[in-house]
Amino acid sequence: MDTQSTEKSVSTETRALLAKLGVADTAVSGGTMASFTPVTGEKIADLPVHSAADAGAIIERAANAFRDWRLVPAPKRGELIRLLGEELRASKADLGRLVSIEAGKIPSEGLGEVQEMIDICDFAVGLSRQLYGLTIATERPGHRMMETWHPLGVVGVISAFNFPVAVWSWNTALAIVAGNTVVWKPSEKTPLTALACQAIFDRAIKRFGDAPADISQVLVGDRSIGEVLVDHPKVALVSATGSTRMGREVGPRLAKRFARSILELGGNNAGIVCPSADLDMALRAIAFGAMGTAGQRCTTLRRLFVHADVYDKLLPRLKKAYESVSVGSPLETSALVGPLIDKAAFEGMQKAIETAKAIGGQVTGGDRVDTGAAEAYYVKPALIEMPDHAGPMLEETFAPILYVVKYTEFDEALRMHNDVGAGLSSSIFTLNMQESERFLAVDGSDCGIANVNIGTSGAEIGGAFGGEKETGGGRESGSDAWKAYMRRATNTVNYSKALPLAQGVSFDI
Ligand code: NAD
Repeated sequence: MDTQSTEKSVSTETRALLAKLGVADTAVSGGTMASFTPVTGEKIADLPVHSAADAGAIIERAANAFRDWRLVPAPKRGELIRLLGEELRASKADLGRLVSIEAGKIPSEGLGEVQEMIDICDFAVGLSRQLYGLTIATERPGHRMMETWHPLGVVGVISAFNFPVAVWSWNTALAIVAGNTVVWKPSEKTPLTALACQAIFDRAIKRFGDAPADISQVLVGDRSIGEVLVDHPKVALVSATGSTRMGREVGPRLAKRFARSILELGGNNAGIVCPSADLDMALRAIAFGAMGTAGQRCTTLRRLFVHADVYDKLLPRLKKAYESVSVGSPLETSALVGPLIDKAAFEGMQKAIETAKAIGGQVTGGDRVDTGAAEAYYVKPALIEMPDHAGPMLEETFAPILYVVKYTEFDEALRMHNDVGAGLSSSIFTLNMQESERFLAVDGSDCGIANVNIGTSGAEIGGAFGGEKETGGGRESGSDAWKAYMRRATNTVNYSKALPLAQGVSFDI
């Protein structure tokens, strides 16, 4: 990457985009938290950070705002999210570009992330008229039993760098129509897109007119600010997305104060390629799943089990795809693979590759790609043929490494598939109905997402998103994930003149 003139530098473009999106210059300059773009490695902002006292005050304001916001009828709350969707549509190109700058995503993925935000807004608008409770048959005459869903309070959102804006919207769109207020602690690696989202939200609020201030706010800082959110007694629910390491710290702290949690943690996602698989389709799905977003999706395909009958047909084609995939700046080229987020990610990748090699892994790719920017970390995605399901293959390395193991027995492939700590996403490539049904059955994939003839990544918002085991068990986005943002009251109403007790108990005084 050539050293560009000041006018053309990424940092200049970033400032212009932030201004266009409505972020004040004072929010991104003169502070103590440096922000870098992985595209060139250059510093693009110095953000003022919030102190623990600021964070406490912000949470108090959110708690005050909740008292009013919960009284606004849910369909009217949906109107705010409808306006947010409109504002996101208007800002899609700029916000998508900012995602590319800050997280290094290629343009279609940066824009795709904003599209996901728009989609969840649409979903939440409909949901605002469908926060249904059940009416339940009661055993007592002249009684009616029903359930009512009420808002929870302040919802804390902690998010990871790799989906810097979508994760906020999955949580916020649902939390707001559910009647909650939101305090968001974005990743310290991607604070600028968070400030841009807040500016977009503020525009929706302004158009809405009479919403209480502070129903959505951002906390800028590192994990210590996240800890304030986790420990604050007025935060009813924390939805935390990030590594399993983070979840191990956050989960017990929330449990200790009986707060609700949605934990969306690491994945070590796998695919099985069966003898009957459509190999053209599998190849494309594997390539996108494993190399897309430079292997930095929670749902990235990291392990592949290929049947011996098709191994020698698929692997040469896969290797060719790995050798030919384009790697480069998402801002200046049409490359399919952008940069790793930082040096630590690069070092983690190299360490995993070396460990795999030491136990017999045969590596294609994995080398650093020199773009001329010393502090930017571009790599050729790595394909590693492994003799066994072992070593670094059992853990998530947040980089583009795909481990491949040959199998002969379906049950053995399934056993290896499930034999890791994480349980997020999974897929099978087969045209055999028995195999696909086995994969989806009770003793099949143990993941929160199980796909047939689709890769592991790229979920739609309509389904509930999340995973099992060390992925944390949380669900966000579609289906009935909204229930996690509300509390349920069971109401029994007696409209008779008697007082029959349940279970036939008599207590006559
Ligand atoms: P990370 O765990 O380093 O950080 C995530 C967020 O947690 C950041 O905002 C960070 O400041 C905060 N944090 C860290 N420790 C904390 C603590 N003790 N208390 C409060 N907050 C804390 O993760 P990352 O490197 O930004 O993201 C990559 C990881 O996230 C990968 O493991 C990936 O699989 C996972 N991820 C999971 C999902 C999912 O939906 N399951 C989605 C995206 C990313």
